[in-house]
Amino acid sequence: MGKLDGRVVIVTGAARGQGEQEARLFTEEGARVVVADVLDEQGRTLAAELRALYVHLDVGEEADWTDAVAAAKRAYGRIDGLVNNAGILRFNALVNTPLDEFMQVVRVNQVGCFLGVKAVAPELTDGGTIVNTASYTGLTGMAAVGAYAATKHAVVGLTRVAALELAPRGIRVNAVCPGAIDTAMSNPARLDPDADTEETSRALDALYRKLVPLGRVGRPEEVARLALFLSCEDSSYITGQPFVIDGGWLAGVTVI
Ligand code: NAD
Repeated sequence: MGKLDGRVVIVTGAARGQGEQEARLFTEEGARVVVADVLDEQGRTLAAELRALYVHLDVGEEADWTDAVAAAKRAYGRIDGLVNNAGILRFNALVNTPLDEFMQVVRVNQVGCFLGVKAVAPELTDGGTIVNTASYTGLTGMAAVGAYAATKHAVVGLTRVAALELAPRGIRVNAVCPGAIDTAMSNPARLDPDADTEETSRALDALYRKLVPLGRVGRPEEVARLALFLSCEDSSYITGQPFVIDGGWLAGVTVI
């Protein structure tokens, strides 16, 4: 028995990184997954491997959401879960952040999550689940990622409101708040096909050894396991909460 047997789950930003690991784990646990992304080639390849459905979905485009929901219903007849995972990161001090850049981040991270809830919730079966991907920076500040942190705080707020509004239908809405996770977002070397990923991961671990109490960067598979917990019956009495997965980074600082 899988933890998601018979359930249909849409995962956005699923072509790589945490979304890819969520698509893989959810499939292993018996779900029929809709792999959604703007990286069509990578998304299609993954979907073919998982025997899943691929949809081109730019999360900032309302019409794309309408098409994705229709495609999921056509293929599987129902939708039981959504993982709003797609996101982008830009580095800039606030005073140097062009408005266009700020709005680009808002469009994907914040509007994307809002449109996902808006388009999918009415189609979710009662008892369905939504997992929004916020961040460690959805709960605390971090210099040089002002646009990103603002959107991730917004995702936590959106999660709480959606949980209240959808609870009467038994739909649970929670957020995952990862710290530093070893994907292309934190480790752009992963995008270089010639890079030795083991070596770049070791370099990232070394960087986080001093910052993170558990002494290493997180793995996308670890975030996928949290998203699974929040998408299955194991979390049946949990809704409206942000879940930090950061190796203890947010717990505080060590001074001696
Ligand atoms: P990633 O860059 O490997 O994956 C992001 C995915 O989102 C990519 O597949 C990308 O194509 C997709 N995407 C980007 N814009 C999109 C759009 N407009 N529509 C649809 N898909 C789009 O990074 P990741 O670490 O796997 O990121 C997944 C989520 O986790 C993001 O929301 C990110 O903000 C969050 N997060 C990541 C970290 C980290 O350290 N990696 C930490 C905290 C939170």
